[in-house]
Amino acid sequence: MAQEVEDRCEYKGFAGSCREPTYSNSLRCILHADLPSDPADAKKLKELKVKKFGEKKGQKDFNFEGATLIEVFFRDEYIEDAIFINTVFIGSTRFERVTFFRAHFDGAIFRGDEDEQHQNVSFEGAIFVGEAPFSHAEFKLPVMFQAEFHDYANFIRATFRKEAWFTGATFGNGANFLRGTFEETSCHSGPPTSEVPCRSKKLNF
Ligand SMILES: [Zn+2]
Repeated sequence: MAQEVEDRCEYKGFAGSCREPTYSNSLRCILHADLPSDPADAKKLKELKVKKFGEKKGQKDFNFEGATLIEVFFRDEYIEDAIFINTVFIGSTRFERVTFFRAHFDGAIFRGDEDEQHQNVSFEGAIFVGEAPFSHAEFKLPVMFQAEFHDYANFIRATFRKEAWFTGATFGNGANFLRGTFEETSCHSGPPTSEVPCRSKKLNF
C-alpha cells in the first residue's frame, strides 16, 4: 500500500533500506533521525533512541549503520557482526573489555553532547578478533584505544580532533593511519607495540 511505503524510514545503507516506521514528522525512524534543535524534542528523541538501542541490543542485532546513537555503553560483552558504518555516536561512548568479531566502524563519527561535560570514547580492554576497520572515522572527543587488535587495524583517513591514546595497544597484523589527521596533542603511544603505528602515522602525512 502506498501509505505504508511513505511511512517507512528513508535511510538506505549498504545493507539495504531501513524498514522501520518514521518517527514523528521526520522522514526517518527513531534511530536514523537527527536530533531536533528544540531541547525538549531532542530530549524526548534521545530517550527513545536509548530505548530502541536497548531493544536491538537485546535481540543481538548490532546493525546500526547510519544511526545516531546516544551514550552507547558496552562492558564485558562479546559482539558479533557489529555494523557501525557511518554511525554517529553522541556523548560518552564505551566499548570497554568488549570482544568484537567482525566489527565495522568505517565513517563513524564520535561527537560530544552539548548538555554534558567530561565526555570521551573508550575502547579500553577491547579485543578486535578480525580486522578493525575505522577508515574515515572521526573522533571529536578524546579517545582511548588500549585495545588488542588481533588483525589489521585500518585507520586510513581517520580524524582525531582531540587526544588519541593508544597506550598499551597491541597490533597483531599492523595498523594503518595513512592520511589520518591528528589534532591537539594527538597520538600518545606506549612502548613497545603501539609505538610503531603512531610513529609511522607521523611519517605518512
Ligand atoms: Zn531507519
